[in-house]
Amino acid sequence: MKDRQFGRVRFIRGENGGKYPFSHSLYLQGDRERVVIDPASSLEKLTRLKEEGVDGVWLSHWHEDHIRYMNLFEGCPVWVSERDFPPFTDLETFLDWYGIEDRGARYYWKKEMLETFDYRPRQTACFLQDDKRMDLGGLTVQVIPTPGHTPGHLSFFFPEEELLFLGDYDLTSFGPWYGDILSDIAHTIASIHKLKAIPARRWVAAHNHGIYESNPGPLWDQYEKIIYERERKLLAFLDRPKTPREICSAWLIYGRPREPKEMYEFNERVLIGKHLDYLRQRGKAVLEDGRWRKVESEI
Ligand SMILES: [Zn+2]
Repeated sequence: MKDRQFGRVRFIRGENGGKYPFSHSLYLQGDRERVVIDPASSLEKLTRLKEEGVDGVWLSHWHEDHIRYMNLFEGCPVWVSERDFPPFTDLETFLDWYGIEDRGARYYWKKEMLETFDYRPRQTACFLQDDKRMDLGGLTVQVIPTPGHTPGHLSFFFPEEELLFLGDYDLTSFGPWYGDILSDIAHTIASIHKLKAIPARRWVAAHNHGIYESNPGPLWDQYEKIIYERERKLLAFLDRPKTPREICSAWLIYGRPREPKEMYEFNERVLIGKHLDYLRQRGKAVLEDGRWRKVESEI
């Protein structure tokens, strides 16, 4: 699939089909402002875009697969939600926000962030305001706060183009990610409901399939259901009290061990951790003597 033009919004397909460590980008062609959203699609395409003219960089959130080529636009103001700004200020904070504690893993990710993702700390940015309507000159953008994936995750609606940029609520078969320290399952569900209710005619996800030109209604349901399915599996697995280690080695999220092992073990652990916390918050599970126990509901 190729890049596409919808009115004044251009879809720029990412390398590797927009799969991690790339994402799709959008190019907004306002009369006053030309903006690239999530500059992590393709070095070649973004270099050409720079020649065409870019006045600002907007980010849906702080994750590395959405920012990797942002330094190409050095000198352009960077816009992001204030809630997602701290990881941009310092690489240690960036890793802390992922909850990476292991020394070896921190070393690996520091190297990766510097070499692959060209991480450079910055002390200033412009902040995109929740729910604000912005006029770029013949092109209107509505900023839609969609927390959960990250606290400051933003989606964007373009009323003239009837196009909704979903960011990382990407409708993939894996389901939503909410494994960071500040990710939140309840907020993720609320954001999915919010996005689903916006009257659009085109939907653009930051990864994989990318463009949907008919309502992805059933896909939304499937995507949301994955959250409940993960919880159902977890509760079924807690047929007797189990340690976090036992729970993680069951691979309830990924189904089976995946490579690279370190990365997937980490992902499994943090996603399971979020689900256990979510169960605890609602009185459905408790941690006793280092084991998680299901709380049977009284009839
Ligand atoms: Zn993300």
